[in-house]
Amino acid sequence: MNTDVKKYIETVPAVAKAAKLEEVFWINPKKEEQKNWHITAVSPEDIQDAAARLQRFAPYLETVFPELKASGGIIESELRDIPKMKDFLNRSYEAGIQGNLLLKMDSDLPISGSVKARGGIYEVLKHAEELAIEAGKLKETDNYAVLAEPEFRQFFSQYTVQVGSTGNLGMSIGIMSAQLGFRVIVHMSVDAKQWKKDLLRSRGVTVIEYEDNYCAAVEQGRKNSDADPMSYFVDDENSKNLFLGYSVAGRRLQKQLEAMQIPVDAEHPLFVYIPCGIGGAPGGVTYGLKEVYGDNVHCFFTEPTHACCMMLGMATGLHDGISVEDIGIDGKTDADGLAVGRPSAFVGRVVEPLLSGIATIQDGTLYDLMRGLLDTEGVFIEPSSCAAFAAFLQSDSLQEYVRQAGLEAVMGQATHIAWATGGSMVPEDVRQAYINTGI
Ligand SMILES: *Cc1c(COP(=O)(O)O)cnc(C)c1O
Repeated sequence: MNTDVKKYIETVPAVAKAAKLEEVFWINPKKEEQKNWHITAVSPEDIQDAAARLQRFAPYLETVFPELKASGGIIESELRDIPKMKDFLNRSYEAGIQGNLLLKMDSDLPISGSVKARGGIYEVLKHAEELAIEAGKLKETDNYAVLAEPEFRQFFSQYTVQVGSTGNLGMSIGIMSAQLGFRVIVHMSVDAKQWKKDLLRSRGVTVIEYEDNYCAAVEQGRKNSDADPMSYFVDDENSKNLFLGYSVAGRRLQKQLEAMQIPVDAEHPLFVYIPCGIGGAPGGVTYGLKEVYGDNVHCFFTEPTHACCMMLGMATGLHDGISVEDIGIDGKTDADGLAVGRPSAFVGRVVEPLLSGIATIQDGTLYDLMRGLLDTEGVFIEPSSCAAFAAFLQSDSLQEYVRQAGLEAVMGQATHIAWATGGSMVPEDVRQAYINTGI
């Protein structure tokens, strides 16, 4: 262990606990009020640009994915009240949740059944648009439904898209790229579940399997792609496009809350909890939400104890300069969507003034929460997603945050949103195995 890391273990209590694989609730001391934000890497105009691009593609998406007919080609998920889950958490875990508890069901997002259907699909669409416009085959004012024609599939088939993944990103990139006509290669880390590899292969995607972790799969994928001028690499470690695809969720959620007549203001704070792997998805969603609600939304990331890379990166300020292996933990977790040992190079820096904190959770508890949600609300989400409830299980720390933020008097009117990030595509036999795990 290098001396620097030792220093952090000695001086940052959250890092010391993480090194012992204990659950941690880290409150971000660098969070700033909106008036002091100076974010330059991305801008609100970038979110608008991403939202407009998704709108341009809506006629195409509606044409090729029948499940998007009802939404007119917009990939969005339900926001559902889960009062019985709130009671369950309060009863079984002394969570002390006041106000409403809602579930944002990205677990059921169309096309690929996870939050990656936001960022992953967005990045593929953006790449396709750039290629087609550059070749003079498409204008922004065209009806993009033409992209479904064989001529375009032929055009895209000259190009390759590659990505490294623990599973869900590969599913989104793979399904979308293959639909457009691209050749696709997904580099899957050891954590990836068999059924995800099988499903991708059935859609004509080339899946390369690695005996190594996520960072290794990404590195190999990037190398392969860089060696081929016709290949594009979706770089989860650095991608601004992925981040912006996720950030579009902010305004969409605002519309849903308005439709449910749920106010968000200083007297009605919004608390949002999002499972975190490399950081792109929760970072993008957080950025989108903070842009809409400013100081009235409080965003938390949640991670498995074995793969708490974002907490380490942010608590030490080293960001991608530290990995879980550096503090002697293995990065191995059943929460495959979160099995990342080193955080994104740019997300932690962008969200530094925005994020409220990060809670970590033991793998075994994820299964208990999964069964709890299924029993109380009849909703199945995958174990990774259940990390969204982590902060409630360390209620003293959450309460401490509320106290520091001066919100005690208004918590009875608060809304909490647990962001369910994956689940609908999990096959029945795998669901049953999850349901029977650890009991
Ligand atoms: C990818 C993923 C996340 C987190 O996204 P990152 O961009 O890796 O932080 C959370 N939950 C599930 C189910 C995922 O697949």
